[in-house]
Parts: sequence; C-alpha cells; structure tokens
Amino acid sequence: MLTQVAEGVLVHQSEFCQTNTVVVHGRAGVLLVDPGVREDELACLANDLSDLGQTVVAGFSTHPHWDHLLWHTSLGAAPRYGTARCAAIVRDRLSDAGAKARIAQFMPPDIVEQVPMDLLGLISGLPAGTEQIPWDGPDIRIVEHQAHAPGHAALVIEERGVLIAGDTLSDMLVPLLDFSDSADPIEDYLEALRLIEGASDHVDVVIPGHGSPGAGDQLQARIDQDRAYLQALRDEQVVSDVRVGPSATYDWVAGVHERQLQNLARRRERDGPPG
Ligand SMILES: [Zn+2]
Repeated sequence: MLTQVAEGVLVHQSEFCQTNTVVVHGRAGVLLVDPGVREDELACLANDLSDLGQTVVAGFSTHPHWDHLLWHTSLGAAPRYGTARCAAIVRDRLSDAGAKARIAQFMPPDIVEQVPMDLLGLISGLPAGTEQIPWDGPDIRIVEHQAHAPGHAALVIEERGVLIAGDTLSDMLVPLLDFSDSADPIEDYLEALRLIEGASDHVDVVIPGHGSPGAGDQLQARIDQDRAYLQALRDEQVVSDVRVGPSATYDWVAGVHERQLQNLARRRERDGPPG
C-alpha cells in the first residue's frame, strides 16, 4: 500500500522493521529510494506502481546495508545509484562468491528466505561530491555524511518539503553508530545531524529509513532526540530515551543500545581518556 506524505511523494512500508521505501514522482516516471524488503512486498510495490501507470526511472540506496540495497525484476532495469563511497563499499563486500551467504547471516532467520538477493547491491556510485540525483524530476539534494554507515546520504526534496533521512531521525531506532569505519562515531554522527539540520530549512515532512514519517515539528523533535542520545553516550550519562525504554516499539533496540555502550567502553579503554 502506498501512502502519500507530500505532493508527489509516497511511502511503501515493509513489515520488516518498518522499513520505508520512498516513491518520488518525476516527469517520465518515479524514483525509488531504498526499495524493500521481502519479495512479496517488492512485487506489491511494483503492482501498485503499474496500477498508477508509473514506470521506475531511477533508484537510490541511502547506504550500504542489505535492507537498503534490494531490488526486484518487476521494478524494471532503471539505473540505481548511491554515493561513490556507498557503492565502493558495496562492491567490496559483494566481491567474492560467498558474499551473499555471508550477508544472509545478518538477516533475521524468519525473513531470510523471503529476501530476494539476485539484484542485491547493483548500484552505480555517483561521482564524489555529486549534489543532486541525476534524473528528470524535482531536484533532490544529496546530503552525504558519516553517520551510521560509510557513504550514508540523506536526501532533501526542497520543492516537496521532504527530507528522506536514511537510518537517522527514526522514532523507534536510536542512532546506530558505525564502529567499522569511524575513529569517532559519536562526533561523526553529531556532525551529520548538523549537516542535515542545516539542509532542512524548507522541510515539513521527515521520512526515516525505519519508523513513521513525521510532519511539522517532528523534524526538529527527532533531531533533538538523536542529538540528546548521542550527547548522553559521549558524556557517559544515563540515557533516557523512549526508544530503548519500557514502551519502546521494538524491545531488541535496548539490546543494540547495550552493545553500543560496551563498544564505546572498549574503545575508551583502548584509546585512554580523550586528550
Ligand atoms: Zn536500515
């Protein structure tokens, strides 16, 4: 089911982790951001689009994690993009014969059989520093930063007042830090929030990669909520955040939060107090 969140911008939500696929109407067809997740959901999306008489003219993956790199034959053969950094990571991670089996190990066992892997990660990197998605539709600004994953990008569609936030600014997931590729994941994430905030002057609707789209004062509220979480981690203060509390949408987020605390503690032990 497609839900309109702004003029010419619709969302198709997966049952897996409330993953949002964003459909943006252009002049000759639609752009899809992060199509996912299960095969039947991708086929449903393709059906909905063909009912609307729309063809897919481009795709974009916000970051190099499997749930944002999916595609389905029924969506056609449009070019699929990501940032240069995102595409380089994907190429690297998919470069050997065992890659897909390895990636499948990261998927929850109850959905692994339902995730179509054939077209996983077939994206082209846009040249480093590209500011707009190349397509025939409203201008879509790429705000690249180093939160959550290397080459992560948020997208701003100013004409439509929409921010597509990738895996930041979720109402049910706390900021998930990238420990693989960052010397200071908390500072990198805080910097990303500053960039996103600075690019969002004309935004009325925020669409996170997972969770509910938010309108009105939700954008600022979510920026403040992510920032407060990160500052508490940085300052080693007690985290009070509804997303890891007793009324959290997903109880496993508290476990992810605990692992982040452990990772940070290990890093502090290794690196000593900040100089
Ligand atoms: Zn994700």
